[in-house]
Amino acid sequence: MSGHLHHVVGSERSPHHSGPNPTTGGWSPIGAASKGFTALGNSLTRAASQHAVALADPEFDFSDIDAVMTVFPSDLFGDGNAGGTAAADGTVLNTARTNTRLLDEPGELTQWGAIAAHELAHNLGLADLYPYDAELRETPPPVPDHTWISVEWGLMGLEAWFLAADDDARFIPEWRFPSGQRASGEIHAYPEPAEMLAWSRWQLGWLDKSQVRCVNEPDAKVTLASIAQPGDAVAMAAVPLNAREVIVIESRRELGYDGGRDYTAPDGATTTLPNLVTEGVLVYVVDALVASGQRPVLLAGDSGDGRIDDFPVLTRGESVTLRGYTITVTADDGDTHTVSITRSS
Ligand SMILES: [Zn+2]
Repeated sequence: MSGHLHHVVGSERSPHHSGPNPTTGGWSPIGAASKGFTALGNSLTRAASQHAVALADPEFDFSDIDAVMTVFPSDLFGDGNAGGTAAADGTVLNTARTNTRLLDEPGELTQWGAIAAHELAHNLGLADLYPYDAELRETPPPVPDHTWISVEWGLMGLEAWFLAADDDARFIPEWRFPSGQRASGEIHAYPEPAEMLAWSRWQLGWLDKSQVRCVNEPDAKVTLASIAQPGDAVAMAAVPLNAREVIVIESRRELGYDGGRDYTAPDGATTTLPNLVTEGVLVYVVDALVASGQRPVLLAGDSGDGRIDDFPVLTRGESVTLRGYTITVTADDGDTHTVSITRSS
């Protein structure tokens, strides 16, 4: 896969992961040869990776390595991309890069772990789920007393916009001050339940066959373990619609990267930014023939304009009807969600 530019930059949507661990092998000066690496607008691309591999090659044995991530300074560059190869020690390496787009102004070092994970997932074959069409990514026109929320699911950016009232407590974090005082914060407009989608895990072979329930009958009941920590249990229901499309149903709990994100402000105040604001069942439709960045996955309720009605999980008693199927959450025991899947036409 080539030319995947990631969109996340800056502190507003900063990743969950902490910074890098120093690797062994020391440093190689990049020198004057660093000129002329940019393509994709203003971004460092595969030539920069090839140069980095060539610099490290005398000191490092690449013969057992499958992929190389080149990380540039996050105070000078943002975003990332993946694609292309480099050759060393008789092997061909897939390459990906983090912090690649030259910033207008140098800034602070930022966290880039989630970007690195996203780009490595491209190396493994996953597509971008966020739209390359910039218009779909723009905040919709303002509505009085409301805030547009952009929720982004998983590692590859399955996103949609919805409106929340300005006083919607689900999105308002509480701040804890060193004095012991507490206060409500501003609405958090970018929840990121970042646990990888069941579909992504299945694509990579990270869900066993026995953990996927393929529904071909007109009526089915499936109990789903949380996608964050499924153990050996069933964690994905899949309803094939035709040769290319499938409805996917999964259970999301406040576990792992779906948990809230702790944040400390410079004045010492702390808060937990909400990500999965409501535990429940996520439903989406995959079209296996739609390309990266062209929205191969759509959340239930997204007709293609990137907008949905509310935070898109179903809780006990709730249901959604799409593509001739009605999916209802019939039970929630705190660990698992049970859904009924009924063909209505
Ligand atoms: Zn990407």
